Amino acid sequence: MDANEVQLKEKLEHHLQEAARVAAEIQALEQGEQVPHFDQIELPAHQLGQRFSRAIQEERAREVALQRLGRVYCPDCKKQCKVEIEPRSVASMDGPIELAEPVAHCRRCRRSFFPSADPNGIR
Ligand SMILES: [Zn+2]
Repeated sequence: MDANEVQLKEKLEHHLQEAARVAAEIQALEQGEQVPHFDQIELPAHQLGQRFSRAIQEERAREVALQRLGRVYCPDCKKQCKVEIEPRSVASMDGPIELAEPVAHCRRCRRSFFPSADPNGIR
């Protein structure tokens, strides 16, 4: 793990703790004077976790999609193609997300294709 990775993980830990404190404070405000059952604590916490998961998925997919811009060649004519980022709705395990997906357009062949032929890519 390099220095940047260590720093980023510390930053994430710090922000997670801060976000947890804020979320608990919001729960307390919303629940007022009542003593909550544990599921009243757990359920909104879980929903927030799913929201966090969806945000990470969308952000990471967008990064991956942007990395593919500008180095894609048409499988038919081998001409370099323009790649655009298009949104795609996906049902993630933590709820619906909008993935940014690279779509290549070959003007010569008048076709569009997904440049992520890589089996490790997001499909
Ligand atoms: Zn082509």
